[in-house]
Amino acid sequence: MEQRYWQKEIETMAYEDMRKLQSERLREQVKHVYTHVEFYRKRMDEKGVKPEDIKGVEDLNKLPFVTKDDLRECYPYGMLAVPLKDCVRIQSTSGTTGKRVVAFYTQDDVELWENCCARAIVAVGGTDEDVCQVCYGYGLFTGGPGLNGGSHKVGCLTLPMSSGNTERQIQFMMDLGSTIICCTPSYAAYIGETLKEKGYKPEDNKLKAGIFGAEPWTEEMRREIEALLGIKAYDIYGLTETSGPGVSFECQEQTGMHVNEDHFIPEIIDPDTGEVLPEGAKGELVFTSITKKAFPLLRYRTRDICVLSRKKCSCGRTLIKMTKPMGRSDDMLIIRGVNVFPSQIETVLLNEGYAPNYQIVVDRVNNTDTLDINVELSSEAFSDTVKEVTAAEHKLADAIKTMLGINPKVHLVAPKSIARSEGKAVRIIDKRKLHD
Ligand code: ADP
Ligand code: ZN
Repeated sequence: MEQRYWQKEIETMAYEDMRKLQSERLREQVKHVYTHVEFYRKRMDEKGVKPEDIKGVEDLNKLPFVTKDDLRECYPYGMLAVPLKDCVRIQSTSGTTGKRVVAFYTQDDVELWENCCARAIVAVGGTDEDVCQVCYGYGLFTGGPGLNGGSHKVGCLTLPMSSGNTERQIQFMMDLGSTIICCTPSYAAYIGETLKEKGYKPEDNKLKAGIFGAEPWTEEMRREIEALLGIKAYDIYGLTETSGPGVSFECQEQTGMHVNEDHFIPEIIDPDTGEVLPEGAKGELVFTSITKKAFPLLRYRTRDICVLSRKKCSCGRTLIKMTKPMGRSDDMLIIRGVNVFPSQIETVLLNEGYAPNYQIVVDRVNNTDTLDINVELSSEAFSDTVKEVTAAEHKLADAIKTMLGINPKVHLVAPKSIARSEGKAVRIIDKRKLHD
């Protein structure tokens, strides 16, 4: 396949040149925030660091970290680094883990964000001949506006569907011949499931690629979506605090996401000690945005857990790659002292032949944690006898016990009885938090 890039010079830049570019931009950014944001001035003064001390990327670890709580305390204008009149846009987090954070953008900030999304679309084979159906939510959520902007830049015919109204999504997909679809992986699976129910086969649609992100998803889920829709499914990552989707994106290799490191410098740290870990180590992802001007973040702790790698990629891009985040550190459940990520459970379910429709319920009874997993049966399996269902529940519970080391209670439930999500899926109900 002929390689196409959106900004070739950057995407294939030699490592030394990239580091030089990052260093220049970092020096400027540090001066910018020190001068214009009291929060940074105070934090840096407390640490005894002056902007002149930051000469390049190698000095990054002299800077203080910023956390989501800092952003919440600075709400709404405390982190603003330009006059409000220079801002043209706000977006906000989905509020998955608490009070929302509001991010500001200048016109240039919007531009660079959309270029990052355009890189992602071109990397999956997108051109001005494509019909790109964007069914991430539009509005304050960054998914819709980000991919919409990228799709415009590439010159695709853009269908600004937003999420929801699955009937209409399918009608437009079929009538207008969408070739690229962008949404959360859970919504992609739902659209695929609905198409199948309506009697469509994967080859009946014109889709060739999907760009899915905004929530954790497993390799098993990728295969499931690819089979349902008859496409290649690619990952995209981002967060409102650093702009939105497009901070990193997958190429044809489908082995992790290239980070747009000319805009966002990634680091991996030990979440407990804050120590920077070497390439290849698993830890918490930290980003420094070196080009955004309205709402720049230095060393922002994402709480997402992943691994960085500079291994050569067959697509020719030299941008560093990050693995799919396996979940946020605050999504991690500690059940009877064992660390459990929902993605581990998803892997087992899909390997055992179930659809990715499940909910994890954790509670505490008589001072012991309980783990219940509700998993939907397919309509074919639903006709099985009680005896068969009970046997299947035990088999699944055993497979999960092998993965996690703790015993869950599995409940196979009727098809369609677990609520579908049009945005980010709600996988965990932790009732222990209600008792606290
Ligand atoms: P919120 O933090 O309220 O959900 P955002 O909508 O900004 O707000 O979500 C950003 C978060 O979504 C990331 O920090 C990450 O946890 C998750 N995320 C985004 N893309 C992916 C992806 N491709 N894989 C796993 N998690 C993702
Ligand atoms: Zn690549």
